[in-house]
Amino acid sequence: MPDQTIPDRQRIDVDIACVGFGPATAGFLATLARQLVNADGTPAVESAVLPGMPPQVLCYERADDLSFGVSGVVTRARALRATFPDIEHAGIPMAAPVGEEKVLYLLDPVGASRRSPALRMADVCIRALKGILPFESEALILPWTPAFLHKHGGMVLSMGQFMQWAASRIQSTGAVQIWPGTPVAEALVENNKVAGIRLLDQGVDKTGRPSDGFTPGMDIRAALTVVADGPIGPIGQQLDAKFGMPEGHHARDWAVGMKFVVDLPEDTPLKPGTVLHTFGYPEPEIFGFLYVHPERVASLGIFVPSWFDSPVRTAYRYLQQWMLHPYLWRSLKGSKLRSWGAKTLGESGRRGEPHLVGDGYARIGEGSGTTNVLTGSGVDEAWATGAQLAEAVLELLKAKKPFTKQNLEDTYVKRRRASWVDQEAIVAEKSRDGFQKGVVRGMMGMALAGLTKGRFTLNSDPVPPWKRIPSIEDYYRGRVSSEDLANLRDECKAKSVSLHGALMDKVGWPAIPFDGQLLVSHQDALLMGGKVQAPPGCADHVVFLYPELCEKCGTKICIELCSGQAITPGEKGGVPAFDREKCVHCGACVWNCATPLPDNPERTNIAFRAGTGGLHSAEN
Ligand SMILES: Cc1cc2nc3c(=O)[nH]c(=O)nc-3n(C[C@H](O)[C@H](O)[C@H](O)COP(=O)(O)OP(=O)(O)OC[C@H]3O[C@@H](n4cnc5c(N)ncnc54)[C@H](O)[C@@H]3O)c2cc1C
Ligand code: SF4
Ligand code: SF4
Repeated sequence: MPDQTIPDRQRIDVDIACVGFGPATAGFLATLARQLVNADGTPAVESAVLPGMPPQVLCYERADDLSFGVSGVVTRARALRATFPDIEHAGIPMAAPVGEEKVLYLLDPVGASRRSPALRMADVCIRALKGILPFESEALILPWTPAFLHKHGGMVLSMGQFMQWAASRIQSTGAVQIWPGTPVAEALVENNKVAGIRLLDQGVDKTGRPSDGFTPGMDIRAALTVVADGPIGPIGQQLDAKFGMPEGHHARDWAVGMKFVVDLPEDTPLKPGTVLHTFGYPEPEIFGFLYVHPERVASLGIFVPSWFDSPVRTAYRYLQQWMLHPYLWRSLKGSKLRSWGAKTLGESGRRGEPHLVGDGYARIGEGSGTTNVLTGSGVDEAWATGAQLAEAVLELLKAKKPFTKQNLEDTYVKRRRASWVDQEAIVAEKSRDGFQKGVVRGMMGMALAGLTKGRFTLNSDPVPPWKRIPSIEDYYRGRVSSEDLANLRDECKAKSVSLHGALMDKVGWPAIPFDGQLLVSHQDALLMGGKVQAPPGCADHVVFLYPELCEKCGTKICIELCSGQAITPGEKGGVPAFDREKCVHCGACVWNCATPLPDNPERTNIAFRAGTGGLHSAEN
């Protein structure tokens, strides 16, 4: 497109611009919106860009509609209740008070998982003693749920339904605007100060070059930019690259969470509010969850963590094998898939905390290190930090003080440090370090940290995922011959599919008995459960930064783990191909990529940029 036809970039000035509408921003806006205007309609505090009016607050969400996020969710709902004391009686669809809670150790009923000798010995002992242990359908039911994990008094929610409800409460104040389908491309950083945000260019080709209908993304200039774009958000990553991480901090612990929302069979014995946590199967490193909503609906899924040393780490097939475990299958048989999704969790917690504030910006939610891996809780913490920032912002607006780093430190960071979020984050900080050296050590470390409130831990320094990924040959040595592996590789390449399914078949995982309603192919899940879409006219948001590094990469884990089968073997030269229309925006490829960047080993060869589309479901 010739230069003279490129339209000018539009600009608007606002007081506060927010990036992303997850629980963190919802907590921020819900707290802020109700205090911007007095009961008589006059501004409680005044806008700097529209004098005489309340502050102009705009929030931009990437997904095509509000509430397309993915989460479990069971929560103690402490922060949610502080904002909405009536939450339990508000009629939120799919909400239920937490009822029975169980933690289950799942044994391997098929003999295909990779268990250490210690775990195999433990399994032998459990089976031998099953007559006197709480043992049912190949699962050991732990006699009690540790206090740090239980959610008694809390709620089972659907993230989508809850966020729709929260959005309507916020928007009904008329004090703030929320715009879905509007990805933020970058933060406007000027002289080390964040001066606002730039929205995504539209009408471009896959590489971002202007094409038909080119419309440059608008600049939104703001005195305060609230960065709440989640664990792998592009704006958070931009700020980390620009300002670095605090001394000793790094984000190396991750997980990808994949979930189904299902209709349980009519005769299900599972009661609303039931909460099950599992570990031990399909691989010892994989945790699972099942939460029951009213009207026979359940949310269930698994977390595949970064310290699971498999070079194929495929979540979808593992989720199916997990559902087929006899303890779960007896409740799930006859269920029907309603919705499906996947998303990354930032599991470094306080150790992954970036600079929380700077001149002109503040960070809240999971991208700011809020998720607590010991208590298995992220929504409440994200919401709490949003509410804390809102109180801080009101204090500064009332005092007519600017949003400088120091002022935000004195108000927002101070509140955060004094709160339960930070106190519990300190307890959790090293609780999962044991997993760096194996599952048994990891479980012991978690119990030790949880029961001693963080005084004792099995400390060890987390290593970045790419450093711990063995080659496929090494991982399957003794189970799959190099000749068989070469043949499987050729077959999968010819079909342009990833290798993981073939490898799992080869090492003894039973084939999935597809039933067309719950057990469906990965591609069918994209259509039936995820309803994935990608509007035209946008650049690819997953980018292989240095193709020459991909050419040399043997593992190609990005293809194996892709949650949407959106990354496939490329046509030539060993560089994978990316299909935007299948991407569920889970972000797992970013931290799983097997190759670090030459100039920054904390980052990998995949860039995850702002993009539209993804999952279209308000139930996840
Ligand atoms: C499968 C799964 C199960 C979970 N289970 C539980 C549970 O049971 N209990 C619990 O408490 N927590 C759970 N969590 C964690 C919880 O979901 C997160 O901690 C929480 O969602 C974090 O909220 P947030 O607002 O910080 O970030 P997010 O929820 O990630 O929201 C960030 C938002 O920013 C948007 N965004 C990103 N980039 C841009 C951009 N460039 N422009 C505009 N918008 C952008 C995203 O689309 C998203 O809507 C689970 C997570 C997963 C994945
Ligand atoms: S993106 Fe990373 S994992 Fe994928 S081929 Fe390239 S270097 Fe390998
Ligand atoms: S390409 Fe998309 S769906 Fe695949 S792992 Fe990356 S973000 Fe997830």
